[in-house]
Amino acid sequence: MAEKQDFYILEDEVSIPYQNAYGPTWTRFFEGFKKEKIYGSRCLKCNRVLVPARSYCPRCFIEVEDVIEVSQEGAIVSWCLTEYEYFGMPTKPPFISALIRLDGTDAEFVHLVGGIDLSDPEYVRKTVKTGMKVKAVWKEEKTGHILDIKYFAPVK
Ligand SMILES: [Zn+2]
Repeated sequence: MAEKQDFYILEDEVSIPYQNAYGPTWTRFFEGFKKEKIYGSRCLKCNRVLVPARSYCPRCFIEVEDVIEVSQEGAIVSWCLTEYEYFGMPTKPPFISALIRLDGTDAEFVHLVGGIDLSDPEYVRKTVKTGMKVKAVWKEEKTGHILDIKYFAPVK
């Protein structure tokens, strides 16, 4: 049996510039953000409303062309408080990422939850609850980006 060997580990960073073509469905979805609208798509076979809008239904495997504006309010299905910084984060910690079921839709929308004091994790755990109602808070200047919605804030 070979003896255990120690190896040198080279730590480095690789940067890969890329472009991602959104296609007509996601382009329309993000164009909606510029007008403070959230678009979903309704599958005409299973009648589910999916957010973000999609070009096909992943359950029925058919094209979905019925794009509709959906509610900007919903409920937290699941959430996570992130306190440590790592590569590729959407914003500086602390922040809450959450699965949000917008009213009248049938899929979870991943976004940030804010508008509450995040400096004390115990306070956050006592305050943020599954099922809690939240509403989109938009940035002043919108560019057609997912973070045109600053976060979803608790509905008072
Ligand atoms: Zn379907």
